[in-house]
Amino acid sequence: MDVSDTLKRLPAVDQVLDCLKPGDSDPRAGRDVLTECVRRTIAALRDRIRGGDLVGEDEMAPESIGREARRRMGRLHAGSLRSVINLTGIVIHTNLGRAPLSRAVLEDVDQRLSTYNNLEFDLTAHARGSRHDHVAALLLQLMPAQAALVVNNNAAAVLLILSEFAAGRGVVVSRGELIEIGGGFRIPDVMTQSGARLVEVGTTNRTRLADYEVALGQDTAMIFKAHQSNFRMVGFTEETGYRELADLARRNGLVFTADLGSGRLTDQGPLSRLDEPSPKDVLESGADLVCFSGDKLLGGPQAGVIAGRADLIDSLRKNPLLRALRVDRFTITAMEATLRRHLDGRLEDIPVLAALAASPETVRGRCRSLVRRVKRIRAEAGLELRVVPTEAEVGGGTLPGRIIPSFGVEVSLKGRSETFVERSLRENENAIIGRVHGGRLVLDLRTLLDGQSEPVARALAGLKAGEDDND
Ligand SMILES: *Cc1c(COP(=O)(O)O)cnc(C)c1O
Repeated sequence: MDVSDTLKRLPAVDQVLDCLKPGDSDPRAGRDVLTECVRRTIAALRDRIRGGDLVGEDEMAPESIGREARRRMGRLHAGSLRSVINLTGIVIHTNLGRAPLSRAVLEDVDQRLSTYNNLEFDLTAHARGSRHDHVAALLLQLMPAQAALVVNNNAAAVLLILSEFAAGRGVVVSRGELIEIGGGFRIPDVMTQSGARLVEVGTTNRTRLADYEVALGQDTAMIFKAHQSNFRMVGFTEETGYRELADLARRNGLVFTADLGSGRLTDQGPLSRLDEPSPKDVLESGADLVCFSGDKLLGGPQAGVIAGRADLIDSLRKNPLLRALRVDRFTITAMEATLRRHLDGRLEDIPVLAALAASPETVRGRCRSLVRRVKRIRAEAGLELRVVPTEAEVGGGTLPGRIIPSFGVEVSLKGRSETFVERSLRENENAIIGRVHGGRLVLDLRTLLDGQSEPVARALAGLKAGEDDND
């Protein structure tokens, strides 16, 4: 049968709708939504037929199309962005939304966003206010900067800084720092986008102060130092420090900008052990501007923080690009709530910091209690759970290769491969993501959040052993 004949056998939308019982229409959605889903299901079949796919008679039956349309509608209602239980041992997981927010922070957000608020209104002066002032005051408490500004993310921060101070002029960067962060953020590309001219200095593994010195010219506007973030250089390496670069910039009347990536705000608790430059240290070394992400080690919402000299921040505030990169009230409120917790040292309300702070013993305790919980629910005889030491990571391009000792539960199931079990947990209604390594599936409990033990235990207890080794 040729394509046009096959196409003619596709039922009409009404035919499909007729064979769906009235009760089939989801009460939450009108008949219109169902009709649209039927239309799209038929269109998808038509595309497949045109593309040369052999579509079976049964698939083209109105009943079958009706069922598929209902599944389509179900997916629409379920939404695509779902809650996931991250048991990979990677604390700032780029694919899993980076930094989760605590209930305490979200309550602050709820209180301020379910009503009108003074986003751009100065309640004391009875005059127009600036949305940028809310977070700035808190940031200045946390680092020795004269002024601060928050934009949509750190990529936006870098773009804004380069556009304002270096468009049409030269920016000196070490060849060892021409990084790609992922998601299309490459330092050379952002330079091009901003209109700045990239001046590469040094070599991949070694860049000395003298390399910067000889590269400075008439049109140089800025010295830019980027944190290497997601890779590590070992061996015959050398880089120029923040203080030396700050001095060089000052002597030559240039702006020195440090893109720190993660932005470790406090030295407290777990962060004291992480050897990661903090905005405070880098500003004290004399950097004119620093920028970093809001949702890496800061543990807040997606945002980019810029802090440093008041005159420079003031120019950034006047740049028309800021209108496109500015943050909304959700980000401002969540950022404020997170920064307040940094200030008060309530790091337990910042989930990524709480996850990094947990001692290996604490994580081991979680593992043991999870195993007991599964046994209480009475799991399959073929399910074997073992508490094993693991190596967790910070993630998010922060401290690559740096291991955080942790513990996990190794899961094995009689007659099933580790990839089968991994998929079952991932496709579970609670979407549990573990890590398969060397033929073993391990659930690292360092990143287990409040209230997640129960669903994980239920998912494990619900695993069904197989007849043999074939999945
Ligand atoms: C992560 C990172 C960025 C990008 O930050 P986003 O907040 O993801 O936009 C830029 N520079 C460095 C050095 C980074 O580590």
